[in-house]
Amino acid sequence: MSEVVESALTTIQAGPYSVRGISVGGVYTALQVPELSVLLDAGITLRAFCGADTLFLSHGHIDHVGGLFGLLGVRGMMAKQRPLRVYLPREISDELCAALAATSRLQRYPLAIEPVPLSPGDDVCVANNLWVRAFRTHHPVPSLGYQFYRRVRKLKCEFQHLPGPEIARRKLTESLFDDVENLEVCYATDTLIRVLDTNPSMLDSRLLIMECTFYDERKSLADSRAGCHVHLDELLEYAPRFRNPHVVLMHTSQIYSPREARDILKRRCPADLYERITLFAPTRSGWL
Ligand SMILES: [Zn+2]
Ligand SMILES: [Zn+2]
Repeated sequence: MSEVVESALTTIQAGPYSVRGISVGGVYTALQVPELSVLLDAGITLRAFCGADTLFLSHGHIDHVGGLFGLLGVRGMMAKQRPLRVYLPREISDELCAALAATSRLQRYPLAIEPVPLSPGDDVCVANNLWVRAFRTHHPVPSLGYQFYRRVRKLKCEFQHLPGPEIARRKLTESLFDDVENLEVCYATDTLIRVLDTNPSMLDSRLLIMECTFYDERKSLADSRAGCHVHLDELLEYAPRFRNPHVVLMHTSQIYSPREARDILKRRCPADLYERITLFAPTRSGWL
């Protein structure tokens, strides 16, 4: 990929997590959360991402999957020991593998992946105590959102005053702990806003990475919904319900410059929510 694209990568910090990559609605979205060692969509081939081993695909639209072929091509030069593991909606797994097989024949070099097809509600362990739960998003094609979480054992309130040695002794015969899920990072893009109703726990995730494609009347609410995308008008209706310490909005339409989108957000968003939101966009005035 050209130096121009690589130098345009955006990196933002959201609490303990960073989000890097590039995202323009309908053009390309390719993100990475390095602390989780995961890629989120591959809408463009980014050389900096080619060493990663785990990718989560939201759906099969080209602005989210178009860069996968180039990414696998670059990996082919990297002597990787195992194929890229790709978590994806179950309905598109066979088609994607068939497309990769056709591309492999075209270039006479294997573009292999290890597909992990998921359905809404599936829970899988991604890495050491990092789990993901897939959930249904609402788009015209099969699509998923992903909730990353960690399972932890937490001492029940009534036992928290006990000294360590007593806990160690009593836990052999008593149930002193609750199993809880720490919701860490949630990713939902290309969806109707009602995903916040059908999967409300995303509002409790420590970091929510979510699309907001349209910001004002330049795109009507009706047209935004017809394309199954989120408009700021409707996102703001949910403002009191966002309990996330950090929200990253991405997939902004190219009809807004990054500065315009930031200005609209600042003007329209309640202060309490605005201070927790980061718009995932380059700091300069235009999209690449
Ligand atoms: Zn998209
Ligand atoms: Zn889409």
